Amino acid sequence: MPLDRKSAPNDLRAFWMPFTSNRQFKSAPRMLVAAKDMHYTTADGRHILDGTAGLWCCNAGHGRPRITAAVQAQVAEMDYAPAFQMGHPLAFELANRIVDIAPDGIEHVFYCNSGSEAVDTALKIALAWHRARGEGARTRLIGRERGYHGVGFGGISVGGIVNNRRFFGSLLAGVDHLPHTHLPQNAFTKGQPDHGADLADELERIVALHGAETIAAVIVEPMAGSTGVLLPPKGYLQRLREITRKHGILLIFDEVITGFGRLGSPFAAQHFDVMPDMITCAKGLTNGVIPMGAVLTTAAIHDAFMQGPEHVIELFHGYTYSGNPVACAAGLATLDTYAEEGLLTRAGDLEAHWQEALHGLRGLPHVLDVRNMGLIGAVELAPMEGQPGKRAFEAFLRAYEAGILIRVTGDIIAMSPPLIISTAQIDELIGTLAEVLTALD
Ligand code: PMP
Repeated sequence: MPLDRKSAPNDLRAFWMPFTSNRQFKSAPRMLVAAKDMHYTTADGRHILDGTAGLWCCNAGHGRPRITAAVQAQVAEMDYAPAFQMGHPLAFELANRIVDIAPDGIEHVFYCNSGSEAVDTALKIALAWHRARGEGARTRLIGRERGYHGVGFGGISVGGIVNNRRFFGSLLAGVDHLPHTHLPQNAFTKGQPDHGADLADELERIVALHGAETIAAVIVEPMAGSTGVLLPPKGYLQRLREITRKHGILLIFDEVITGFGRLGSPFAAQHFDVMPDMITCAKGLTNGVIPMGAVLTTAAIHDAFMQGPEHVIELFHGYTYSGNPVACAAGLATLDTYAEEGLLTRAGDLEAHWQEALHGLRGLPHVLDVRNMGLIGAVELAPMEGQPGKRAFEAFLRAYEAGILIRVTGDIIAMSPPLIISTAQIDELIGTLAEVLTALD
């Protein structure tokens, strides 16, 4: 039933909304009240085509009966079970199922509740792993400019989004950053860009500066999503892997967005054929239905902790809701849905159509770049004089009015629709965006 929550701004006061211009929103709220398959329904009864899979998470679309039923059944059967020194079957089953689709070499799953927690968990495991092996001087963490790794202190420290860092003090000590890979000469590339593999060599400079024996891990998104779909140049990730391996540095892929089919393989590590030591994931793990994240590790990472007396806790880390049974039920039903409908490879099947449609936007007013891979894409707009971000935000507002959901970051429009999207819906999404862009000031 559509709810009438549109009118009185005073009713909206208490909720301090995340990553939102609260005053702008509350003066003209965009209220979603229902979702089914590819569409949201707004409070005023309009249907909005979901061009972003919620927040890059609802990979199987919305209101999928199998997931709904699994969650309902699990809530009724056992709503919660302690996560420490106790277990329940679904947590073990889901971990095995994740390992089955993960890159060869990934053998263990540590659960948490979000991408941010997965990142902080992976960073802590990296530090503890070196210490467990007698290399406790390896404490330095390396992220990348324009990287997004969630909002925990670890994540914003290794992250490279200026606004997410600058208001929050001195953050983690001993963090360094690689340069981002967003190069103007790659503008309008279809798929993986040609230029920039050598940017990985910056890691050699950081190693020379600090000494490999002080560096624990490098964390990167194989494809940076939140800062505007920045694709890895050809050969870049391979180079990063070579250099990290050479110096005994762990490589962590943050696959919170790329995990679960976004690029046409279960994980980006498989797509790019580069094997990290750990993978962080969340979002698509449960189709966004119940919060859940995970860190996936190799046996070499896990086994280093499985020493010492058996009764002693091996890793002093975990969450009340690690492996929550309802989340596990959602995860299993989600993986079933992905498997049954071939969704983990569907982005590859749709890529050519997606690419063609998206690059049709080239030449429209203000469009500086179009880029794509799998079922993700971005359109970068020229900023308005003195008002960065305003033009793309205006596009977002108008797109919503026109019936499509897009996401903006700065002056970049990003899209990552559910993997169930039809080619006709791709055309509708991009066609509507074209109309919006054409009419922009
Ligand atoms: N890492 C990456 C790569 C992400 O894209 C995100 C979320 N967009 C996060 C971490 C944080 O995830 P969460 O919002 O679930 O904490």
